[in-house]
Amino acid sequence: MKLISVVVPCYNEEEVLPMFYDEIIKVTDSMKKEHDDVEFEFLFINDGSKDRTLKLFHELADRDKRVRYISFSRNFGKEAGMYAGLTNCRGDYVVVMDADLQHPPAFLPQMYNYICTGEYDCATTRRVSRKGESKVRSWFARLFYKIMNKISDTEIVDGAQDFRFMTRQMVDAILDMTEYNRFSKGIFSWVGFRVKYMPYENVERPAGTSSWSFWGLFKYSLEGIMAFSTFPLAVSIFLGILSIIIALILFIAGIIVSLATNKSGSALYISASVFLSGALQLGCMGIFGQYLGKTYREVKKRPIYIAGETDEDYRRKKSGENR
Ligand code: UDP
Ligand code: MG
Repeated sequence: MKLISVVVPCYNEEEVLPMFYDEIIKVTDSMKKEHDDVEFEFLFINDGSKDRTLKLFHELADRDKRVRYISFSRNFGKEAGMYAGLTNCRGDYVVVMDADLQHPPAFLPQMYNYICTGEYDCATTRRVSRKGESKVRSWFARLFYKIMNKISDTEIVDGAQDFRFMTRQMVDAILDMTEYNRFSKGIFSWVGFRVKYMPYENVERPAGTSSWSFWGLFKYSLEGIMAFSTFPLAVSIFLGILSIIIALILFIAGIIVSLATNKSGSALYISASVFLSGALQLGCMGIFGQYLGKTYREVKKRPIYIAGETDEDYRRKKSGENR
């Protein structure tokens, strides 16, 4: 038997949760008909909802013994919800998805098929349009991906989402990243593995409201940049170099002025020395920044490497096939 865990972080989702449950049951039941060796568990996370979400969990747990849940003492954010779900699920395969049906359960069978081919460790959707989203928000989102991909070594695919069907191996790799400030879009990409991106058109929420404000998203994107890039720490080095160049120009201008006019160019020399001393300070801060960046990476204790496959896996799989 293969267990598939469906992890669903929920924050104030009383309006869509019943719809979500009906939909996911429909899809998973049909998957069970198609594959007689799959079982499901549904792990809901109540992220400190202020509405009847927890009450609905109780009802679902009474109705369906495959339903499990964790209820947080307060709102910790979706990242914490996903982490709790991944840590506590028991599946051989794990799906992470939103409760609001913006991650259509209808994708699951196809995702599972991709994983079953053995060619992928993860199947995920990728939005090819941002229909239904405000123009300003889309513009900022695109800008974020552009900046992020320039200054970070971890590639973040534009439109990639947290809707993921993963193998246990990939989930364990994600859990090996024990950092506190979690930015899943980066983490999913950082761990690597073979990922199948399935394009799809954005779907709007059937009910309820998105809990992301513009400000919230802005803070989240800064979080992402700081978690996956130490570039901002290097900015002072560039400013330092710029100041040196300006100081040099002012100094040369001072010499030219005093030669050409026989007057001293002292005002220019003074400005040059002001820029020079600024440059020294910025440069030193840049050096601190480099060490701080290294320290920052150390304290995250990320794994040095993640193996995708070894000969042991290969032999085990082969002997399993021959049996
Ligand atoms: N969510 C959560 N904690 C939060 C905010 C959101 O668990 O603090 C859940 C929410 O219930 C939903 C998913 O994360 O299942 C995505 O949230 P939302 O639909 O508000 O975000 P959007 O789709 O607008 O990015
Ligand atoms: Mg949503």
